[in-house]
Amino acid sequence: METVGRFAPSPSGRIHLGNILCALLVWLSARQKGGKVVLRIEDLDTARCPRRYAEQMEDDLRWLGLDWDEGPGVGGPDGPYYQSERTALYQAALKKLEQKGLVYPCFCTRAELHAASAPHREDGQVVYAGTCRNLTAEEAAEKAKKRPPALRLRVPEEVWGFTDGHLGPYEENLARDCGDFLLRRSDGMFAYQLAVVVDDAAMGVTEVVRGADLLDSTPRQLYLYDLLGLTPPKFYHFPLLLTADGRRLSKRNADAGLDALRDRSTAAEILGKLAYLAGFNPSAVPKTAEALLADFDWDKVPTEDICIPEGLF
Ligand code: GLU
Repeated sequence: METVGRFAPSPSGRIHLGNILCALLVWLSARQKGGKVVLRIEDLDTARCPRRYAEQMEDDLRWLGLDWDEGPGVGGPDGPYYQSERTALYQAALKKLEQKGLVYPCFCTRAELHAASAPHREDGQVVYAGTCRNLTAEEAAEKAKKRPPALRLRVPEEVWGFTDGHLGPYEENLARDCGDFLLRRSDGMFAYQLAVVVDDAAMGVTEVVRGADLLDSTPRQLYLYDLLGLTPPKFYHFPLLLTADGRRLSKRNADAGLDALRDRSTAAEILGKLAYLAGFNPSAVPKTAEALLADFDWDKVPTEDICIPEGLF
């Protein structure tokens, strides 16, 4: 079976070194197996992800030499490649889940969610306390007069696990560690978890390569694959890049954004340094993505978060 990898950025700002490392690993992991790469723009949150950011990202990726076989500007059989244009597919998947009786309306406000004494996940998200889980149809109809509901998926008290291609075995008890999760927000925006599963399956993706911050989304996604009767891809999660003082990179601050970097570096300089940090370039010498293919090996990539030394870029 042909390998199909995908890069699925959310264009809420200029891409940073962490996103570039992700794009590089997606590209190398797929290309090394003779596979292809899909670019999908995860712009569900259209207010935060204007089209010009996506276009800038596409331009940055081309400049870096990380090309794609299907996606914006290239086309392909499984488009459109902007999630904001794919809502009919998410709606259809939601309907399937509703027909199984697994979806319920949730009227909790953000403040109520956070005030609940439910445990917090490591990522700061609250495990949903189940407040709206057992509302009667009458109670729900009454509440809906005041406020449009979000939609949640009812999850079972079950352990869902998998073996990550890079980080090894990982599992969660869906009810305890994750809770009933959002499928659609109260403003009608579909949730990442649903959209990503629908799209990866529809686009024939066979391997998902992404940052370890999404490792704990995977059991939820595997559960959705199962409910929707879809075949899950193989997953590879890689460690996060941190600033020299140990902070997460973010699109909102200037941390290692590509704007300044692109003026003072070549693409090969940036990729060579990233590959060095990620263990598959013996030194920080400049290398194109093509040149890195020979040395890339998941076994060389660290499993712990990586700090970017001061002054490297
Ligand atoms: N759009 C997500 C992000 O930029 C990535 C989703 C994924 O790779 O599954 O963080």
